[in-house]
Amino acid sequence: AEQRFSFLGRTRQIFNRLGNTVQETDTITDSLWDELEESLLGADVGPSTTLWLIERLRQRVSDENMRTGGQVQQALREELSALLGKSSSLRFSKQSPLTVILVIGVNGSGKTTSIAKMAYRLKREGHSVMLAAADTFRAAAIDQLQEWGNRVEVPVISQKPNSDPGAVVFDALQAAQSRGSDVLIVDTAGRLHTKFNLMEELKKINKIIQRFVPDGPHELLMVIDATTGQNALLQARKFAEDIGLTGVIITKMDSTAKGGFAFAVADDLGVPIKFIGTGEKVENLMPFEPQNFVAALFA
Ligand code: GDP
Repeated sequence: AEQRFSFLGRTRQIFNRLGNTVQETDTITDSLWDELEESLLGADVGPSTTLWLIERLRQRVSDENMRTGGQVQQALREELSALLGKSSSLRFSKQSPLTVILVIGVNGSGKTTSIAKMAYRLKREGHSVMLAAADTFRAAAIDQLQEWGNRVEVPVISQKPNSDPGAVVFDALQAAQSRGSDVLIVDTAGRLHTKFNLMEELKKINKIIQRFVPDGPHELLMVIDATTGQNALLQARKFAEDIGLTGVIITKMDSTAKGGFAFAVADDLGVPIKFIGTGEKVENLMPFEPQNFVAALFA
Protein backbone atom coordinates (compact mmCIF):
# COMPACT_ATOMS: atom_id res chain seq x y z
CA ALA A 1 0.00 0.00 0.00
CA GLU A 2 2.95 2.28 0.81
CA GLN A 3 4.26 2.11 -2.71
CA ARG A 4 0.91 2.74 -4.36
CA PHE A 5 0.71 6.13 -2.69
CA SER A 6 4.21 7.33 -3.44
CA PHE A 7 2.68 9.98 -5.74
CA LEU A 8 1.46 11.81 -2.64
CA GLY A 9 5.01 13.03 -2.03
CA ARG A 10 4.85 16.48 -0.53
CA THR A 11 1.29 16.16 0.79
CA ARG A 12 2.37 13.14 2.71
CA GLN A 13 5.32 14.99 4.21
CA ILE A 14 2.96 17.59 5.65
CA PHE A 15 0.58 15.07 7.20
CA ASN A 16 3.39 12.88 8.36
CA ARG A 17 5.12 15.70 10.17
CA LEU A 18 1.81 16.83 11.63
CA GLY A 19 0.99 13.30 12.77
CA ASN A 20 4.33 12.99 14.55
CA THR A 21 4.05 16.38 16.20
CA VAL A 22 0.58 15.63 17.52
CA GLN A 23 1.58 12.14 18.60
CA GLU A 24 4.55 13.41 20.58
CA THR A 25 2.70 16.21 22.35
CA ASP A 26 2.69 15.87 26.13
CA THR A 27 -0.01 18.37 26.89
CA ILE A 28 -2.69 19.62 24.60
CA THR A 29 -2.16 23.37 24.31
CA ASP A 30 -3.14 26.19 21.98
CA SER A 31 0.13 25.88 20.14
CA LEU A 32 -0.89 22.37 19.10
CA TRP A 33 -4.10 23.71 17.57
CA ASP A 34 -2.14 26.46 15.83
CA GLU A 35 0.22 23.95 14.37
CA LEU A 36 -2.67 21.77 13.27
CA GLU A 37 -4.34 24.72 11.58
CA GLU A 38 -1.18 25.73 9.80
CA SER A 39 -0.49 22.24 8.50
CA LEU A 40 -4.03 21.63 7.30
CA LEU A 41 -4.10 24.97 5.50
CA GLY A 42 -0.68 24.23 4.04
CA ALA A 43 -1.99 20.98 2.59
CA ASP A 44 -4.93 22.93 1.10
CA VAL A 45 -7.63 21.41 3.25
CA GLY A 46 -9.17 24.87 2.90
CA PRO A 47 -10.22 27.43 5.51
CA SER A 48 -13.75 26.30 6.27
CA THR A 49 -12.98 22.58 6.46
CA THR A 50 -9.88 23.29 8.56
CA LEU A 51 -11.80 25.40 11.04
CA TRP A 52 -14.53 22.82 11.26
CA LEU A 53 -12.01 20.04 11.89
CA ILE A 54 -10.28 21.92 14.66
CA GLU A 55 -13.54 22.82 16.35
CA ARG A 56 -14.64 19.23 16.16
CA LEU A 57 -11.36 17.94 17.60
CA ARG A 58 -11.35 20.47 20.43
CA GLN A 59 -14.86 19.39 21.28
CA ARG A 60 -13.86 15.75 21.29
CA VAL A 61 -10.79 16.39 23.41
CA SER A 62 -13.02 17.98 25.99
CA ASP A 63 -15.95 15.54 25.73
CA GLU A 64 -13.77 12.46 25.77
CA ASN A 65 -11.24 13.74 28.27
CA MET A 66 -8.31 13.19 25.97
CA ARG A 67 -4.95 13.70 27.57
CA THR A 68 -2.33 12.49 25.17
CA GLY A 69 -1.21 13.48 21.72
CA GLY A 70 -1.74 9.89 20.67
CA GLN A 71 -5.45 10.19 21.38
CA VAL A 72 -5.70 13.42 19.42
CA GLN A 73 -3.83 11.90 16.52
CA GLN A 74 -6.25 8.98 16.45
CA ALA A 75 -9.22 11.36 16.57
CA LEU A 76 -7.73 13.46 13.75
CA ARG A 77 -7.46 10.40 11.54
CA GLU A 78 -11.01 9.36 12.36
CA GLU A 79 -12.39 12.79 11.55
CA LEU A 80 -10.45 13.01 8.29
CA SER A 81 -11.79 9.61 7.24
CA ALA A 82 -15.32 10.58 8.21
CA LEU A 83 -15.08 13.71 6.05
CA LEU A 84 -14.34 11.60 2.98
CA GLY A 85 -17.21 9.18 3.50
CA LYS A 86 -17.37 5.68 2.08
CA SER A 87 -15.60 4.65 -1.08
CA SER A 88 -17.84 4.87 -4.12
CA SER A 89 -17.26 3.09 -7.40
CA LEU A 90 -18.88 3.91 -10.73
CA ARG A 91 -22.58 3.25 -10.91
CA PHE A 92 -23.72 0.99 -13.72
CA SER A 93 -27.23 0.73 -15.10
CA LYS A 94 -29.34 -2.01 -13.61
CA GLN A 95 -32.05 -1.68 -16.24
CA SER A 96 -30.27 -1.09 -19.46
CA PRO A 97 -27.38 -2.85 -21.21
CA LEU A 98 -25.79 0.58 -21.71
CA THR A 99 -24.34 2.78 -18.96
CA VAL A 100 -23.81 6.46 -19.77
CA ILE A 101 -21.25 8.59 -17.93
CA LEU A 102 -21.17 12.37 -18.49
CA VAL A 103 -17.96 14.23 -17.69
CA ILE A 104 -17.64 17.99 -17.25
CA GLY A 105 -14.72 20.22 -16.24
CA VAL A 106 -12.97 23.39 -17.31
CA ASN A 107 -10.30 23.28 -20.01
CA GLY A 108 -6.93 22.26 -18.69
CA SER A 109 -8.36 20.45 -15.68
CA GLY A 110 -7.35 17.09 -17.13
CA LYS A 111 -10.81 16.16 -18.41
CA THR A 112 -9.73 14.51 -21.68
CA THR A 113 -6.92 12.61 -20.01
CA SER A 114 -9.22 11.40 -17.25
CA ILE A 115 -11.81 10.19 -19.75
CA ALA A 116 -9.12 8.22 -21.58
CA LYS A 117 -7.86 6.79 -18.30
CA MET A 118 -11.37 5.69 -17.32
CA ALA A 119 -11.94 4.14 -20.74
CA TYR A 120 -8.65 2.27 -20.48
CA ARG A 121 -9.50 1.01 -17.03
CA LEU A 122 -13.06 -0.06 -17.92
CA LYS A 123 -11.80 -1.82 -21.01
CA ARG A 124 -9.31 -3.78 -18.96
CA GLU A 125 -12.13 -4.77 -16.65
CA GLY A 126 -13.87 -6.32 -19.65
CA HIS A 127 -16.24 -3.55 -20.66
CA SER A 128 -16.87 -2.50 -24.22
CA VAL A 129 -16.38 1.27 -24.11
CA MET A 130 -17.19 4.10 -26.50
CA LEU A 131 -16.43 7.83 -26.24
CA ALA A 132 -18.49 10.79 -27.43
CA ALA A 133 -16.81 14.13 -28.20
CA ALA A 134 -19.65 16.39 -27.09
CA ASP A 135 -17.39 19.22 -25.92
CA THR A 136 -17.62 20.69 -29.41
CA PHE A 137 -16.52 24.24 -28.67
CA ARG A 138 -12.82 23.71 -29.28
CA ALA A 139 -11.56 21.85 -32.33
CA ALA A 140 -8.44 20.87 -30.40
CA ALA A 141 -10.52 19.16 -27.73
CA ILE A 142 -12.18 16.93 -30.32
CA ASP A 143 -8.84 16.00 -31.89
CA GLN A 144 -7.34 15.28 -28.53
CA LEU A 145 -10.12 12.92 -27.53
CA GLN A 146 -9.77 11.20 -30.88
CA GLU A 147 -6.05 10.75 -30.30
CA TRP A 148 -6.59 9.28 -26.86
CA GLY A 149 -9.27 6.99 -28.30
CA ASN A 150 -6.75 5.67 -30.82
CA ARG A 151 -4.18 5.16 -28.11
CA VAL A 152 -6.46 3.17 -25.79
CA GLU A 153 -8.23 1.54 -28.75
CA VAL A 154 -11.71 2.78 -27.98
CA PRO A 155 -13.98 4.22 -30.70
CA VAL A 156 -14.71 7.96 -30.52
CA ILE A 157 -17.86 9.44 -32.02
CA SER A 158 -17.42 13.07 -33.07
CA GLN A 159 -18.71 15.74 -35.42
CA LYS A 160 -17.37 19.04 -36.69
CA PRO A 161 -16.33 21.75 -34.19
CA ASN A 162 -19.25 23.87 -32.98
CA SER A 163 -21.82 21.24 -33.87
CA ASP A 164 -24.66 20.64 -31.45
CA PRO A 165 -23.49 18.57 -28.46
CA GLY A 166 -26.92 16.93 -28.40
CA ALA A 167 -26.47 15.71 -31.97
CA VAL A 168 -23.11 14.17 -31.08
CA VAL A 169 -24.66 12.40 -28.10
CA PHE A 170 -27.50 11.14 -30.28
CA ASP A 171 -25.03 9.71 -32.81
CA ALA A 172 -22.96 8.15 -30.08
CA LEU A 173 -25.94 6.48 -28.42
CA GLN A 174 -27.00 4.99 -31.74
CA ALA A 175 -23.48 3.79 -32.43
CA ALA A 176 -23.06 2.36 -28.92
CA GLN A 177 -26.30 0.44 -29.21
CA SER A 178 -25.64 -0.89 -32.68
CA ARG A 179 -22.12 -2.00 -31.74
CA GLY A 180 -23.24 -3.43 -28.42
CA SER A 181 -21.05 -1.21 -26.24
CA ASP A 182 -21.91 -1.31 -22.56
CA VAL A 183 -20.33 1.97 -21.42
CA LEU A 184 -20.53 5.33 -23.19
CA ILE A 185 -18.41 8.13 -21.74
CA VAL A 186 -19.48 11.57 -22.93
CA ASP A 187 -16.96 14.40 -22.96
CA THR A 188 -19.29 17.27 -22.12
CA ALA A 189 -18.98 20.98 -21.37
CA GLY A 190 -15.46 22.32 -21.09
CA ARG A 191 -16.49 25.88 -20.46
CA LEU A 192 -18.73 25.89 -17.46
CA HIS A 193 -19.66 29.50 -18.44
CA THR A 194 -22.76 30.20 -16.40
CA LYS A 195 -24.82 27.86 -14.33
CA PHE A 196 -27.85 28.57 -16.50
CA ASN A 197 -26.08 27.61 -19.74
CA LEU A 198 -24.57 24.53 -18.21
CA MET A 199 -27.92 23.38 -16.87
CA GLU A 200 -29.62 23.98 -20.22
CA GLU A 201 -26.97 22.02 -22.07
CA LEU A 202 -27.12 19.13 -19.64
CA LYS A 203 -30.92 19.10 -19.71
CA LYS A 204 -30.90 18.73 -23.48
CA ILE A 205 -28.32 15.98 -23.35
CA ASN A 206 -30.17 14.15 -20.58
CA LYS A 207 -33.38 14.18 -22.60
CA ILE A 208 -31.64 12.59 -25.55
CA ILE A 209 -29.97 9.99 -23.37
CA GLN A 210 -33.27 9.06 -21.79
CA ARG A 211 -34.77 8.28 -25.19
CA PHE A 212 -32.24 5.47 -25.46
CA VAL A 213 -31.56 4.67 -21.81
CA PRO A 214 -34.48 5.61 -19.54
CA ASP A 215 -32.52 5.43 -16.29
CA GLY A 216 -29.53 7.40 -17.63
CA PRO A 217 -27.25 9.19 -17.39
CA HIS A 218 -25.80 7.07 -14.60
CA GLU A 219 -23.01 9.39 -13.55
CA LEU A 220 -22.32 13.09 -13.91
CA LEU A 221 -18.69 13.58 -12.94
CA MET A 222 -16.80 16.82 -12.59
CA VAL A 223 -13.04 16.86 -13.15
CA ILE A 224 -11.22 19.17 -10.74
CA ASP A 225 -7.52 20.05 -10.82
CA ALA A 226 -5.93 19.72 -7.38
CA THR A 227 -3.22 22.25 -8.25
CA THR A 228 -5.79 25.02 -8.69
CA GLY A 229 -7.15 24.17 -5.28
CA GLN A 230 -9.64 26.41 -3.56
CA ASN A 231 -10.27 28.49 -6.70
CA ALA A 232 -11.55 25.50 -8.62
CA LEU A 233 -13.71 24.59 -5.70
CA LEU A 234 -15.34 27.98 -5.60
CA GLN A 235 -16.65 27.43 -9.10
CA ALA A 236 -17.59 23.79 -8.59
CA ARG A 237 -19.61 24.68 -5.53
CA LYS A 238 -21.81 26.95 -7.64
CA PHE A 239 -22.78 24.09 -9.93
CA ALA A 240 -22.67 20.91 -7.93
CA GLU A 241 -26.08 20.81 -6.40
CA ASP A 242 -28.20 22.23 -9.18
CA ILE A 243 -26.81 20.08 -11.96
CA GLY A 244 -27.08 16.83 -10.00
CA LEU A 245 -23.39 16.08 -9.81
CA THR A 246 -22.81 12.46 -8.74
CA GLY A 247 -19.07 12.51 -8.17
CA VAL A 248 -15.71 14.12 -8.86
CA ILE A 249 -12.36 13.13 -10.25
CA ILE A 250 -9.46 15.04 -8.70
CA THR A 251 -6.53 15.27 -11.10
CA LYS A 252 -2.83 16.04 -10.64
CA MET A 253 -2.63 14.75 -7.09
CA ASP A 254 0.95 13.83 -7.95
CA SER A 255 2.16 17.32 -8.73
CA THR A 256 1.17 19.22 -5.62
CA ALA A 257 1.52 19.45 -1.88
CA LYS A 258 -2.19 20.17 -1.97
CA GLY A 259 -3.49 16.62 -1.61
CA GLY A 260 -5.47 17.83 1.39
CA PHE A 261 -7.71 19.42 -1.22
CA ALA A 262 -9.58 16.10 -1.30
CA PHE A 263 -11.01 16.85 2.15
CA ALA A 264 -12.25 20.27 1.07
CA VAL A 265 -13.86 18.76 -2.03
CA ALA A 266 -15.69 16.06 -0.10
CA ASP A 267 -16.75 18.50 2.60
CA ASP A 268 -17.88 21.28 0.27
CA LEU A 269 -19.49 19.41 -2.60
CA GLY A 270 -20.98 16.54 -0.65
CA VAL A 271 -20.47 14.04 -3.47
CA PRO A 272 -18.00 11.16 -3.52
CA ILE A 273 -14.54 11.39 -5.02
CA LYS A 274 -14.60 8.55 -7.52
CA PHE A 275 -11.03 8.64 -8.81
CA ILE A 276 -7.80 10.55 -8.38
CA GLY A 277 -5.32 11.28 -11.14
CA THR A 278 -1.81 10.32 -10.13
CA GLY A 279 0.22 11.16 -13.23
CA GLU A 280 0.12 11.78 -16.97
CA LYS A 281 0.09 8.17 -18.12
CA VAL A 282 -3.07 6.32 -19.02
CA GLU A 283 -2.73 3.93 -16.10
CA ASN A 284 -2.36 6.81 -13.60
CA LEU A 285 -5.93 6.81 -12.34
CA MET A 286 -6.73 5.38 -8.94
CA PRO A 287 -10.14 4.52 -7.51
CA PHE A 288 -10.45 6.66 -4.44
CA GLU A 289 -10.52 4.68 -1.20
CA PRO A 290 -10.94 7.06 1.75
CA GLN A 291 -9.60 4.72 4.42
CA ASN A 292 -6.47 3.85 2.50
CA PHE A 293 -5.92 7.45 1.50
CA VAL A 294 -5.96 8.69 5.09
CA ALA A 295 -3.79 5.79 6.25
CA ALA A 296 -1.27 6.56 3.50
CA LEU A 297 -1.08 10.25 4.46
CA PHE A 298 0.18 9.36 7.92
CA ALA A 299 2.25 6.34 6.93
P1 GDP B 1 -8.50 19.17 -20.54
O1 GDP B 1 -8.26 20.45 -21.27
O2 GDP B 1 -9.28 19.38 -19.29
O3 GDP B 1 -9.07 18.09 -21.37
O4 GDP B 1 -7.08 18.70 -20.00
P2 GDP B 1 -6.08 17.57 -20.51
O5 GDP B 1 -6.68 16.22 -20.31
O6 GDP B 1 -5.61 17.91 -21.86
O7 GDP B 1 -4.90 17.74 -19.46
C1 GDP B 1 -4.18 18.94 -19.30
C2 GDP B 1 -2.77 18.62 -18.85
O8 GDP B 1 -2.79 18.03 -17.55
C3 GDP B 1 -2.08 17.61 -19.75
O9 GDP B 1 -0.74 18.00 -19.90
C4 GDP B 1 -2.17 16.30 -18.95
O10 GDP B 1 -1.11 15.41 -19.22
C5 GDP B 1 -2.08 16.81 -17.54
N1 GDP B 1 -2.71 15.90 -16.57
C6 GDP B 1 -3.98 15.42 -16.57
N2 GDP B 1 -4.19 14.63 -15.48
C7 GDP B 1 -3.02 14.61 -14.79
C8 GDP B 1 -2.60 13.99 -13.55
O11 GDP B 1 -3.34 13.27 -12.86
N3 GDP B 1 -1.30 14.22 -13.17
C9 GDP B 1 -0.45 15.01 -13.90
N4 GDP B 1 0.78 15.18 -13.43
N5 GDP B 1 -0.84 15.61 -15.03
C10 GDP B 1 -2.10 15.42 -15.48
